Amino acid sequence: MNLLLHMCCGPCSCYPVKKLRADGIEPTGYFFNPNIHPYKEWDMRLKTAKEFAQKVDMRIITDENYMLRDFLKKALAAEETENGRCRMCYTWRLEQTARFAAENGFDAFSSTLFYSIYQQHELMKETARHFSELYGIRFYYEDFRPGWQEGIDISLELGLYRQPYCGCIFSEEERYSKAIRKQRKKAAKERKRMAAISGTSKG
Ligand code: SF4
Repeated sequence: MNLLLHMCCGPCSCYPVKKLRADGIEPTGYFFNPNIHPYKEWDMRLKTAKEFAQKVDMRIITDENYMLRDFLKKALAAEETENGRCRMCYTWRLEQTARFAAENGFDAFSSTLFYSIYQQHELMKETARHFSELYGIRFYYEDFRPGWQEGIDISLELGLYRQPYCGCIFSEEERYSKAIRKQRKKAAKERKRMAAISGTSKG
């Protein structure tokens, strides 16, 4: 199978590539991540993805446009709805991967996002299935999360740069700002409380 594998970064590609090869599939890596900021971080992750591909001898295609402004426009508009920013982010990357795969003669597409224990797995699966139908290209689904630790070990053996936050400038802020983390916890607690109240009143 001629599989286009969206790579969110080098370290997250370690386990999925190993697993796919063990199953007889030779993927082509595809780096398209307008969600990574600031520029130096994006550049570092791009270089690491290339370094990984070179070390494991895998073909890689890279989109080297840094799209901070486009991302911010979309993200700020999406922030209005709960989960909106990440939903937009998955949608953008998975749609582009599905479209690129369909237009360039691949049999199927997938993403290393399905390796991450931090991403919203079911939402991404639903999104990928939607674009699979829309572009008439097979979505190769595999839950790579059981290989989480193995992937970390491989990335360390290969000496790859490992990033400390998800990607966008908002996630960088959330990673380092205690106040924001506290605020988000409070909001989540409040949402739970409201959901419990509305559940009780329905009963
Ligand atoms: S937190 Fe991660 S998944 Fe969510 S918008 Fe930012 S980069 Fe994308």
